[in-house]
Order: sequence, then structure tokens, then C-alpha cells
Amino acid sequence: MNYDIIVIGSGPGGYVTAIRASQLGFKTAIIEKENLGGICLNWGCIPTKALLKSAQVFHYINHAEDYGLNKVEASFEFPNVIQRSRGVAGKMSKGIEFLMKKNKIDVILGTAKVQKDKKVSVTDTDGKTTEYSASHIIIATGARSRELPNLPQDGKKVIGYRQALSLPEQPKSMIVVGSGAIGVEFADFYNTMGTKVTIVEFMPNIVPVEDEEISKHLEKSLKKSGIDIMTNASVESVDTSVEGVKASVKTANGNITLEADILLSAVGIAANIENIGLEEVGIQTDKGRVLVNEWYETSVPGYYAIGDIIPTQALAHVASAEGITCVEKIKGMHVEKIDYGNIPGCTYCHPEVASVGLTEKQAKEKGYEIKVGKFPLSASGKATANGNTDGFIKVIFDAKYGEWLGCHMIGEGVTDMVAEAVVARKLETTGHEIIKSIHPHPTVSEAIMEAAAAAYGEVIHI
Ligand SMILES: Cc1cc2nc3c(=O)[nH]c(=O)nc-3n(C[C@H](O)[C@H](O)[C@H](O)COP(=O)(O)OP(=O)(O)OC[C@H]3O[C@@H](n4cnc5c(N)ncnc54)[C@H](O)[C@@H]3O)c2cc1C
Repeated sequence: MNYDIIVIGSGPGGYVTAIRASQLGFKTAIIEKENLGGICLNWGCIPTKALLKSAQVFHYINHAEDYGLNKVEASFEFPNVIQRSRGVAGKMSKGIEFLMKKNKIDVILGTAKVQKDKKVSVTDTDGKTTEYSASHIIIATGARSRELPNLPQDGKKVIGYRQALSLPEQPKSMIVVGSGAIGVEFADFYNTMGTKVTIVEFMPNIVPVEDEEISKHLEKSLKKSGIDIMTNASVESVDTSVEGVKASVKTANGNITLEADILLSAVGIAANIENIGLEEVGIQTDKGRVLVNEWYETSVPGYYAIGDIIPTQALAHVASAEGITCVEKIKGMHVEKIDYGNIPGCTYCHPEVASVGLTEKQAKEKGYEIKVGKFPLSASGKATANGNTDGFIKVIFDAKYGEWLGCHMIGEGVTDMVAEAVVARKLETTGHEIIKSIHPHPTVSEAIMEAAAAAYGEVIHI
């Protein structure tokens, strides 16, 4: 079969690319070896948020009295919580199946390997191999949990995110190694459900990519909720021959041993670049990722790569945007390059964290003279009514021209609010324009306007 475009992998990179390609009139096929929707829908973004929702509802029921309701003791069967999350993932994957049909995209199930001369071979579960060709081949094979040599995952006691999303029983205790978004979200879920959680982070701060003040605040909040957090610490080795696990942890004050039922390794991802034909075709990689130019062309004409397999931020919305940019460029449209400095990042623990742009430290390092404004959620009427006053908004403006350099937020609902900063920054909105953009009352979003006002000495409610 001959196509205009073949997409390999159906994650948020691949399936979005295929839909946009079809919209643009390309005869399109997508190849998937597992489930439509990739990691994001099946083992990432969506099932984690389903678990976190269950944890939040559990927390709210147990705190009914805080809302003037009668005291209730919430209870749960752990497998049912997992089952709900798996059900949500399954439903989303079915939705992609529908979208593929609606957009007349051929779905080819099997394991793909790129070949020379713009061909792709696909081996199905029966071992039968079929060859396809296309004018353009877009590789979007994503990534998997990264395994450290001293933390090999056995899938039972030392686990990755897939197992953490589908454990048959709730562990009584858990060590989470790594405190990026994935580690912190699992730590928050398991802790809220009653597992004793210890986070071990190599860097001085948890969620290390975030503004330092946000990291520090989150550390305090998570500790208050019962999570033990060790920073500047690394797991050197893990003994699984005992009941549960014994982890040897190197800290500034010497080595200590942590014991738990299970250890979750959340130390990042490894791109799926192996056995997909890259070497045979001559597609260049570097440090485990496929090298591309700003239009996602690899080193071999006609072959492209997008999403977690390339060295850009490993986020679903980034993968999708890269795929759309890639096919629009193939179509010959006048396309804008992606601005990787304006990508929002969110962590859906409680309180949530969301940010876009430069941290205060980065802004200073870049030589900006800055105006910083902060607004605590304890001063927000809506946050107080919601009973969620833990957190604050921090905005950073360039003192000279008023450019909105960074927005950093911690608090309930901030992951839905950060888009305001993304759009405003895209439109080169100044601090004063934010102050003069009337936000609805009562909403937590008013806190953004107030934080901007605080930067210019015009804040009203503090
Ligand atoms: C626990 C967790 C939580 C996350 N939460 C978020 C979040 O909240 N927000 C966010 O933006 N990002 C989140 N992410 C990251 C997000 O899931 C990824 O950035 C995103 O899925 C990358 O999309 P992709 O299309 O590049 O690859 P993937 O989603 O990994 O999809 C790749 C697909 O390719 C298939 N494939 C691989 N090799 C072959 C082959 N040879 N032949 C055929 N098919 C193949 C795979 O089976 C897979 O379906 C999370 C990740 C994890 C692990």
C-alpha cells in the first residue's frame, strides 16, 4: 500500500499528526503496536488524573465537616479505584479509534520498522510482515520508563509507572525515587489513599524544573500531608531479597537504609529508538533521541520525528503541536516554529503546580531587570469559599518593557489557569494590560490579575 503519510505510533504525537494530515488531504495511515492513544491516554496523563481524582474525592469525603456537612468515614476497595482509572483510559483509547475512522485514517496494528526508500515494514501479532510505502514517514514511537542500572525494575517490588497505575493491592509503604511531575503525582495519590510514602530526590528541590519558591512551598505542603521527603539524596542500591525492599540512600549526612513494600522508580524516560530501523536507514540520533531540525526533518529526507522520541520537552501537548507543525510544513503552509519557551508545564498533585516561561532565577541569569508580584490564595474569596487556600501566584515581568517573563502558580485549579499566561505571553501582553483585563469574580483566576497588580504596587486585596 502506498500512502502520502505514514505515522508510526499513535500517542498524542502520532494520532494528532494523522488527523491533521488527513484534514490537509493526505492519504494517511497510522501504525500502532499496542493501544491507540499511546502512553498519554493509556499509561500516562489520563489514568494518573483519574487516580488523583479518586484520591481527591476520598479526601473531600473525609473532610466533609470542613464544609459544614456531617462527618463521614470514606472507604474504598483499591482494585475498584484502579479499575476506574483503567476504564477511563480504555474509554479514551476507544475515542481515538472513532477519530481515526471519522478522519478516514487507516489503522495498521503491528510493530513498525522504517526501511530505506521510504518504506515501512509492519509485523503483526501472528508474525506476518507487510511492507508499506509513503512519501513522508513520521516517527512518533514515544518513550518508556527509564531504568537506572542500580535500580533495575522487576515490575513487582521495583516498579515503573505502568505497574504503579495497575497494582493489584495497595502497598502499605512506598519509596518514590525522583520528584518530577510523575513521581510527585504518584506520591500524592498513594499518600492520600493511606500508603506511607517517602520521596527521594537527587536535586536540592522537589519538582526541580519549577521556580524555587514553588518547589519549597510544595515540599512544605506535601510534608504536611504526611509524605516524607529527602532532597540531595540518591538511592544507591536496592535489596529485593527481603520482604518488601531495602534501599540504601546516600545523603549529605551519610548512608541510610529505607524499608518499604515497594519502590517506584520515577527518574525520567528513555526514548523508543531501538529496533525501529533507524540505523538501517541512517537516521541520526544523539544521547538516545532522534535528531531533527525545526521542522522535525531527520537527517534522512522524507523521514520525520516528533514527540518524546526527540530532545524537546516530553509532554503530550508538545508532541501534538510538533506533529501539527510537521505536517503543515509538509503541506507547504506558512508555519510558525514552535516557541519552546512558552510551553506550560503542570503537575496535578494537591496543591497543583503550573508554570510557563522563565523562573525568577532564570530571568536574573538572563540579565533582565525584573518586577515580581505575588498573591496568596488565602486572600482569594473563591479559594476561601472552596476551602483551598494553600498556594500562591507568582508573576515575573521585565521592568523595562513590561513583558510577561514567567508565571508560576501553586494551588487548587492552577493547571486550568495557566493557559491565560500562555496566551497572554504569545500575544506579547504587558503587565499593565493584565491588570486592566477584568477577571471574573469570584474566581481563583483573579489572583493572576492581583499578582500582576502586586508587581506594580497596585494590588487591592492584600
Ligand atoms: C505517568 C505519566 C504521566 C504523564 N502525565 C502527563 C501529563 O499530565 N501531561 C503531559 O503533557 N504529559 C504527561 N506525560 C507525558 C506524555 O504521556 C508523553 O509526553 C506523551 O505521551 C508523548 O507522546 P508521543 O506521541 O511522543 O509518544 P507515546 O504517547 O509514548 O506514544 C508512542 C506510541 O508508539 C507506539 N510504538 C512504539 N514503537 C512502535 C513501533 N515500532 N511500531 C508501532 N508502534 C510503536 C507505542 O506503543 C505508543 O503507543 C505523562 C507520562 C507518564 C508516564
